[in-house]
Amino acid sequence: MGGERILVVEDERAVARGLAYALEREGFRVLLAETGEAALAAVRNDDPALVLLDVRLPDQSGFDVCRTIRSEGKRLPILMLTARDEELDKVLGLELGADDYIVKPYGLRELISRIRASLRRAYGELSADDDEPRRIMIGDIELDLERLQARRDGRTLDLTPIEFRLLRYLARHPGRPFSRDQLIEAVWGYESDVGSERTVDVHVRHLRLKLEADAAKPRHLITVRGIGYKLELEPEDSAR
Ligand code: CA
Repeated sequence: MGGERILVVEDERAVARGLAYALEREGFRVLLAETGEAALAAVRNDDPALVLLDVRLPDQSGFDVCRTIRSEGKRLPILMLTARDEELDKVLGLELGADDYIVKPYGLRELISRIRASLRRAYGELSADDDEPRRIMIGDIELDLERLQARRDGRTLDLTPIEFRLLRYLARHPGRPFSRDQLIEAVWGYESDVGSERTVDVHVRHLRLKLEADAAKPRHLITVRGIGYKLELEPEDSAR
């Protein structure tokens, strides 16, 4: 890994320059965009490996930029920079398709480690193991590990990249309960810290809405009280 292009979307020039300096020192190449419009153009034309996206931009919100990138079918990792906890609540509440979030003020070391984890997740696991199954059935849902898609009745479920990875991880270990910390480490690729457990809960909630017949009474993606979550390939009859 090295020399990947990172698109930094931030309208405060001093902050953007500081980020660019830190990233370049780590061996990344940096593209800068000060507006949502410029960010979308850069994603379309300059093929960045990852987007570092501030929520507050002059022309549109980072939320909109993130949604637009996903709606154009691009799966590159997006790391959102949020100003405060309330903003994080909004980020987590909306289904944006962002891969990860970091709340300001953050340490540069923390940010770089999140970026590296996102890049590893997105580009490091593309070649599937040979003795690994090509597909896993979760009830009537087919998880296609080659095409990185989930389908039901031939129709593709609209999973975000991180939702797919979370589902794939759980499906590779059916019936085994994982703590939120374990899921953060295994799926997001960094050590769990304060607040990141909420991220797991939010993604589980979104996944249930897409997978379960009744998200309030999940039969596959089950809460294990006092531990975390597990996935059952065959439906469980009781809720919780
Ligand atoms: Ca800003």
